[in-house]
Amino acid sequence: MVSRNENYDVDILDMGMEGEGIAKINGYTLFVKGALTGEKANVKVMKANKDYGFAKLVKIKERSSMREEPECIYFEKCGGCDLQHMSYEAQLNHKKNIVHNTIKKALGHEIEVNDTIGMGIPYHYRNKVQYPVANGKMGFYRNRSHDIIESKECIIQNEIADHLAHDVFDVLTKLKISSYNEETGKGCLRHIIVRIGIYTGERMLILVTNDDIKEKEMLVNELTKACPSITTIIQNINQANSNVILGEKCVTLYGEGCIYDKLGDFKFKISPLSFYQVNPVQTELLYSIAIDNAQLTGNETVFDLYSGIGTISIFTSAKAKKVYGVEVVKPAVEDAKLNAELNEVKNVEFIVGEAEKEIPKMYKEGITADVVFIDPPRKGCGLELLETIKEMKPKRVVYISCNVATLARDLKYLEDNGFIIENIQPVDMFPQTKHSEVVTSLKLK
Ligand code: SAH
Repeated sequence: MVSRNENYDVDILDMGMEGEGIAKINGYTLFVKGALTGEKANVKVMKANKDYGFAKLVKIKERSSMREEPECIYFEKCGGCDLQHMSYEAQLNHKKNIVHNTIKKALGHEIEVNDTIGMGIPYHYRNKVQYPVANGKMGFYRNRSHDIIESKECIIQNEIADHLAHDVFDVLTKLKISSYNEETGKGCLRHIIVRIGIYTGERMLILVTNDDIKEKEMLVNELTKACPSITTIIQNINQANSNVILGEKCVTLYGEGCIYDKLGDFKFKISPLSFYQVNPVQTELLYSIAIDNAQLTGNETVFDLYSGIGTISIFTSAKAKKVYGVEVVKPAVEDAKLNAELNEVKNVEFIVGEAEKEIPKMYKEGITADVVFIDPPRKGCGLELLETIKEMKPKRVVYISCNVATLARDLKYLEDNGFIIENIQPVDMFPQTKHSEVVTSLKLK
């Protein structure tokens, strides 16, 4: 019997998806945050369920050679990064293992996974800083809570964007703009977001507010005076009592209401509500792997599903006869259309709608694809979409995933329904965090 509040000496046998160590006591599984595979440790059980429990690391008795001192002083408290206590090489290995084990388990047979492709400098890669604001404080949420811990910097953020967010907060504090209170639903400012085009240097400030800001003109004057590098300022209104950061309504207070960035040889317009990959350096690599694996000859019709602002469509356009992008967020599709024009790409068409609904409809109308790119959000593909792909029989499917659990589920379906997995390539888009990104290439049997 493993009991709460008791201490145990354990061996860490493996690591889980959250980056936690896994130990066994007579078959009972304990998850130990902060412990690494191969370590011996004394742990204290904090929660004991029937079959598994959670324990706190009390003392490391034998240290893993993978262990490193975290670079960030907030690492212990912050919920953002999970793997900073591992060397970068060990992080990459860990991500490969997670991908391998999760997919193998779902498929029920052995599979080969390539080594994770990492970054040269795995810090300061994020082009989007988003800080919550509450009780007059801006910072990060304490792990598994909504308490805000004030922070001076975040080592995975682009430094310019990070400094800008802090400067903006200082101005708003001086102007006594109230902050939102989750419990009462009162107060104004909820989040400060800065998005930066790392190639263009353009900077978008999004102020997420609960209600309207008074004296907007004065606010914009003060912000642009203190932070003249801001390219555009947008107010986003979010009155929902939920964890979703952005509301649906945006008001441009200053500038064009969007920024531009470059990826490869292409220029992209990015609006506040549009998705854009947060690690542009690795994104170029990710796309080039995905497109190489599609083995296009120039004669193919291609579907780019979950197409965002049209990046993959535009990257593939030169190698395909025709590309259809499908995306549910309307402003993102508007960006995608403009991006096609901006890059003088003529053989792409963008459709607003859910891929799960639009693709079955297009298929019924006789539009089929030779190659399908799928790049869904964390919940993976809807079944209607997979069923249509099964019937449509494209030569190749290239699945880009940011959630290996749903990827594994969807690969099981595709493997059972006519496709062979050719290549599984993890690319580290989110160094220091538990998140994995994987390009999987499949071909028709
Ligand atoms: N391929 C793009 C975007 C990937 S992120 C890129 O690399 O930048 C996933 C995208 O799927 C987001 O833009 C999101 O708005 C969109 N999305 C979410 N659910 C969707 C659905 N059911 N159908 C189509 N698009 C969806």
